[in-house]
Amino acid sequence: MRIVLMGMPGVGKGTQAARLRDALKVLHVSTGDILREAIQTGSALGKRVRESLDSGALVPDDLMAELITERLSRSDASGGFILDGFPRTAEQVSILDRVLETLSVKLDRVILLSASEDEIVSRLSGRRICPGCGEVYHVDNRPPGSAGVCNKCGSALVQRPDDTKAVILGRLEVYKNKTLPLAEIYSERGLLQEIDASGDQATVFEGLRTVLGLS
Ligand code: AMP
Repeated sequence: MRIVLMGMPGVGKGTQAARLRDALKVLHVSTGDILREAIQTGSALGKRVRESLDSGALVPDDLMAELITERLSRSDASGGFILDGFPRTAEQVSILDRVLETLSVKLDRVILLSASEDEIVSRLSGRRICPGCGEVYHVDNRPPGSAGVCNKCGSALVQRPDDTKAVILGRLEVYKNKTLPLAEIYSERGLLQEIDASGDQATVFEGLRTVLGLS
């Protein structure tokens, strides 16, 4: 299966994509994770994209084209994939179309996870990440056993620089202006399905399984 997961930042794309990856045994490609890793390792790509990520702006399409073409052309993507965070602009839809055409494959589904803006702001501003093992917490809804410390590996939890309130509001604007219109493009192609993502993780995943015919 080749699936695009769309939705506002913080709606749970990463969490649901990881669950789907395990259920379908396909690759999970999170462009946000790839970019954050590039920043952490101090690579040339990381240096070019750091400012965009910290401010919540989109990385330019030409850079994203290089990144996604390289990633989807690797052999581990040949059995299918879940795209989480790509495409985010109309130009990136065309970029993806070109990559898929080169690989002689097609998208099966585009799934839009939706939730209210208020819920998203609360989820993102309370989100804390473990820099050691990647575990995700929330100060109210999923607090660690000991405040500020990862249950799994004991590292000190951090807040992503783009999870502060001012940056979150900017990211939501970018989403509404540049990314949400892609739902229309994919709807016209008959690929789009929308799922209410305001419930807990397990409920949302059940919805995903149902629309994908997995249950
Ligand atoms: P995410 O983890 O998906 O919320 O992505 C975090 C940040 O990475 C975004 O705010 C952008 O700065 C950058 N980013 C991730 N995916 C893309 C993309 N497809 N196009 C442009 N920028 C992206």
